[in-house]
Amino acid sequence: MKTIGTAQVIPGEKTMGSIQAGTDIDGTPFHIPVLIASGEKEGPTFWVHGCIHGGEYGGAASIINYFHELEISELSGTFVGVPVTNLPAFKARHRNSPLDGENLNRIFPGNPNGTYSHRLAHILLEVMKDSADVVIDLHSGGLDANVPFYMIVKDDQSDTAKESMRIAKRMGSEVIWRAKGEAGTGGTVSASLVQEKIPTVTVECGGGTLSDEDERDFKKAIKYAMQACNMLPGEPPVQEEYTIIGNATFFVTKEGGLFIPACKVGDYLNKGDKIGSIMNLYGQIVEELICPEDNSYIAAVGNKYWPTEPGQLMAESIPVESREKL
Ligand SMILES: [Zn+2]
Repeated sequence: MKTIGTAQVIPGEKTMGSIQAGTDIDGTPFHIPVLIASGEKEGPTFWVHGCIHGGEYGGAASIINYFHELEISELSGTFVGVPVTNLPAFKARHRNSPLDGENLNRIFPGNPNGTYSHRLAHILLEVMKDSADVVIDLHSGGLDANVPFYMIVKDDQSDTAKESMRIAKRMGSEVIWRAKGEAGTGGTVSASLVQEKIPTVTVECGGGTLSDEDERDFKKAIKYAMQACNMLPGEPPVQEEYTIIGNATFFVTKEGGLFIPACKVGDYLNKGDKIGSIMNLYGQIVEELICPEDNSYIAAVGNKYWPTEPGQLMAESIPVESREKL
């Protein structure tokens, strides 16, 4: 019988188990929960995970709720939900791991002899390579920021990337970041998966104050992707037009202080427009973040008055590359 970690894949049943991924400082094993729903009809194995970044718990909650709501009688193939992939970072409620400071989504494919996060990346990738036909990777703005609902596809010009793009266009958002080269996507799980010929879409949605709408968007994205893979009945939506964005600018603050946003996620700003500023504790503006290019989509922006430290990522702007039909 096929297993994923300790969870068994049993046609017509929902099962649970865990993947053991190394141990904590005190020797306690990290057990990563796995939720499996397997249809009686043949079909692909669809893997969706959350919390590669520990503070992005909206995806985790959405996977858990989606799994319990899923009608198994309608399902062809197997759903695999992994709500929290990065347990140390999740427990710390932080983007990076407290064990080694690493950003797990910059170090794939990992290293079985490296520090904890490198080992974790290696284990996760091995399990996905062994079981998944398609992977959906859920993210958000974390505790300190918000993002709009949009998709990211790692485009290495391969047929796998084309299939990722086909699925992404059916997942309920008209905005898709086509990520080429290494900028912002080097060492991501999606870059490694596409190399392994596993189509992958990253979903960005919400942040520290996850709304009901954000949860609905996460769950719709999962359902529509499964429909696009012919695992559930029904046709996923087609958007009238797709806005393709690329070549992101990441705004990292130079000064500490309180962040004051000047725009909202999903806005389109032009060159010279203000994205936000940093106010010191005397009320003086010590830094302004300015949009560098015309027609830029605001893909992340920090929370109002969030305390920043020098070097902290507080916003992302991504210029529009093209608009296209399905
Ligand atoms: Zn993330």
